[in-house]
Amino acid sequence: MSAYNIVSIAGSDPSGGAGIQADLKAFSAHRTFGMSVVTALTAQSTRGVTGVHTVPADFVVHQMDTLFSDATVHAVKIGMLGTAEVTAAVADAIGRHGLRGVVVDPVMVAKSGDRLLEASAVKALRTELLPRADLLTPNLPEAADLLDEAEATDLEGMRAQAHRLLELGPRRVLLKGGHLEGGESVDVLVSREGPDREFSAPRVPTRNTHGTGCTLSSSIAALLPQRPDTAAAVADAKAYLTEALRRAGEIDAGGGQGPVHH
Ligand code: PLP
Repeated sequence: MSAYNIVSIAGSDPSGGAGIQADLKAFSAHRTFGMSVVTALTAQSTRGVTGVHTVPADFVVHQMDTLFSDATVHAVKIGMLGTAEVTAAVADAIGRHGLRGVVVDPVMVAKSGDRLLEASAVKALRTELLPRADLLTPNLPEAADLLDEAEATDLEGMRAQAHRLLELGPRRVLLKGGHLEGGESVDVLVSREGPDREFSAPRVPTRNTHGTGCTLSSSIAALLPQRPDTAAAVADAKAYLTEALRRAGEIDAGGGQGPVHH
């Protein structure tokens, strides 16, 4: 039996590549026990999102209160929240339950271009949720949106933006450089204490990248209680994602952009 319970608070992806479904697969792959609080349903295939049905904020909180009054939770991954109301309600419940190991993946727009967070909710994410995050894991477009700045175009710019994101309240920021050009994908980890860290991985030549952000953030959450520090959890989560990308071609989940392989 696994000693660790990890919770995903996120949206459903029926195609199995991202969202709750990806998170639960990653939790199992890292030998933890996965739990989930669903914030939204999407209608989705490898070709994109055709609809979003959000759960009312009070019922998201009801799920959290019921679960957290019973189960001990060792880390939390927060993904798609959909609306400003759900974002604020989840932030409040995280605080009330004193949850630790909170990894926030600020999901805003899917790779297919479909919006997964109302534009008006970015403020709630910034002001209510980020101060409660132990680790924030934005990609370059998400970092730019959160800071209301242009996207970073090089490593120097990424380091500077990661430090500006720290000022919004998270204890640590992992800014993911996957959208930059180059043979390697480099992510920057910064915290208020301690030196900056960089993590490089070879860029895997595949178009099947659906679910990469979900898989990385949920893998980090699952590894946090099992590694000596955040940097070690990030390094192992990134290695796991690289392998999942290498094996992505083995899955035939539809005719569009396929998922990474857990
Ligand atoms: N659907 C859901 C429910 C998600 O949480 C995410 C996560 O970011 C996505 C879709 C988008 O996945 P991707 O951008 O990797 O295609």
